[in-house]
Amino acid sequence: MKEIKDSDRKPSKKPLIYYYMVALLVLMLLNALFFPSVLSRQVIEVPYSQFLTMIDDGQVSQVALEESSGQLVFIAGEDEAHQQVYKTGIWPDDGQRLLEQLRSDPSIQFQAEIPTQANPLLSFVLTWILPIFFFILIGELISRWMMKRMGNGLPGGMGNAMTFGKSNAKVYVEASQIGVTFADVAGQEEAKASLMEVVDFLHEPEKYADIGAQLPKGVLLVGPPGTGKTLLAKAVAGEAHVPFFSISGSEFVEMFVGMGAAKVRDLFKQANEKAPCIVFIDEIDAIGKKRDTGGYGGNDEREQTLNQLLAEMDGFDGRKGVVLLAATNRPESLDPALMRPGRFDRRVPVEPPDLPGRKAILQVHAKKVHIADDVDWDLIARTTAGSSGAELANIVNEAALRAVRQHRKVVKQEDLEESVETVLAGAQRKNAVISDQEKKIVSYHEIGHALVAALQTHSAPVTKITIIPRTSGALGYTMQVDTGEKALMSRTELYNKIATLTGGRAAEELIFGKENMTTGASNDIEQATKLARAMITRYGMTDEFDMMALETIQNQYLGGDTSLTCAPETAAKIDAMAAQIIKEAHEKALGILKAHEGKLHELAEYLLEKETITGEAFMSILNA
Ligand code: ADP
Ligand code: MG
Ligand code: ZN
Repeated sequence: MKEIKDSDRKPSKKPLIYYYMVALLVLMLLNALFFPSVLSRQVIEVPYSQFLTMIDDGQVSQVALEESSGQLVFIAGEDEAHQQVYKTGIWPDDGQRLLEQLRSDPSIQFQAEIPTQANPLLSFVLTWILPIFFFILIGELISRWMMKRMGNGLPGGMGNAMTFGKSNAKVYVEASQIGVTFADVAGQEEAKASLMEVVDFLHEPEKYADIGAQLPKGVLLVGPPGTGKTLLAKAVAGEAHVPFFSISGSEFVEMFVGMGAAKVRDLFKQANEKAPCIVFIDEIDAIGKKRDTGGYGGNDEREQTLNQLLAEMDGFDGRKGVVLLAATNRPESLDPALMRPGRFDRRVPVEPPDLPGRKAILQVHAKKVHIADDVDWDLIARTTAGSSGAELANIVNEAALRAVRQHRKVVKQEDLEESVETVLAGAQRKNAVISDQEKKIVSYHEIGHALVAALQTHSAPVTKITIIPRTSGALGYTMQVDTGEKALMSRTELYNKIATLTGGRAAEELIFGKENMTTGASNDIEQATKLARAMITRYGMTDEFDMMALETIQNQYLGGDTSLTCAPETAAKIDAMAAQIIKEAHEKALGILKAHEGKLHELAEYLLEKETITGEAFMSILNA
């Protein structure tokens, strides 16, 4: 990507501080030239007796009485070159007589004052010029440091203060350099269709102007991370063959009030000059957060930036061909003003891909690597339910890396399968040290999950069981893959899933005794609890609360954290009910395993020996 600087003039290389240094040096030199003795004037205190001796020797040339201290200041020296300033106290009863004597001595000049301080010019420099100099120096350093932080593309040198607030829309790219088209974005058909219209508008704005239709000024792409929002925005620019300004929301966040706003202004000014073009603000939530949500008493800088953005969006003429795209994974935190008609009036959801979408994404990325023809893309797509586009891209790449590690030229099915597990569960920890007893426990635990899953109706079939530890910390796992895409889950399915999750611990208890249960079930417990609570609070699957919402999701696209919206008494009830659901499921799992204890032993021993077994092997032993 090419950086655009607003000028290419070479700033003067010498920093400002250089000039200050020179000025100071000159000053000191002048000083030393014109007041050489005074520069080195130091006052030496001597006893009175020595003063008398020096007078007798005829060394004293000038004398003055310092009124403030009542002491004598005098200049003495064996010759011109060794003159020094001295100071001495006078014996009180000697005073009058001494002064008379000094006055009458023709070789001694009696002075009103002999300056004992360093010369005034020097002290002026030390007390005034030097501090000012340091202030300027520090100021200069700070501004330089900030310049660096704002960085990129700004002309350096002394003119910097004037260029504060230039949007470093450095990612201004000519259409020909983007190299991403809609063909690179797989799945996401609805999003593409919606954006296709934008592209069409940029191609033939007259068509829309003729009929009087106005295209949305702004299109907001919302969806979880890694689903291809940024990719889609690039593809729009690539398809439309227009310049593309891309800037991240966080780049508007500045230290000083007003600077972010200035950047916004500048960005739109540049965009207007280049119209038709696309302005893309990635992660817009950084500046588009709701204003005044209480708490910290506002954030002036961010609000100003947002206000400026809103004003600019109202200000620019949609017919001119500037299209604003933005992306976020936190739409619920955006200021409503951003979303009102006339601003980001079109909202394009970019959801995690469905089964055909995942297959298409895998295949798009597979084009970049040498891959065997007989790869079962359906299977890989099915095992990656819930994965985002970015994860799928990563899976293909990990598979290619694995092929390279094994000195092969093509990627095979097994590479992909292994890489799915690597991405989802972490890499294999081949040299993890696990005792035989622990391995045995893990085998029973995993077979417990698998048996409960297989012996219930409405459970996804088991496709793989392994007790090879993973870097994620899992000592083994049981993979279940649905045969098709599932959008809904029934109450029974949820309940059975909880039972399956408790199956691991149930097997441990049954075989090794309740007192020997292990910590291996912690992740199962977490998941089972989440499900049980969701059944009560979000899915309305209990008689007591019926269809009442007891929880709200905070950020839908980022982990979906929830918060309870009910009275504390209700919360306590929810806890009790969740515990009940899990307990029932646990007992059901125990019952299933007890009834098939023979199979449990047989399968666990088989797994312990083989470490990994496939779904088919598992089923054939179970059904034997
Ligand atoms: P987001 O901006 O939504 O967080 P990105 O657009 O940055 O995600 O996607 C990251 C990467 O994931 C892309 O560069 C691309 O390789 C891959 N990817 C994501 N979605 C898709 C998709 N629909 N088709 C192809 N590749 C995708
Ligand atoms: Mg992105
Ligand atoms: Zn488990």
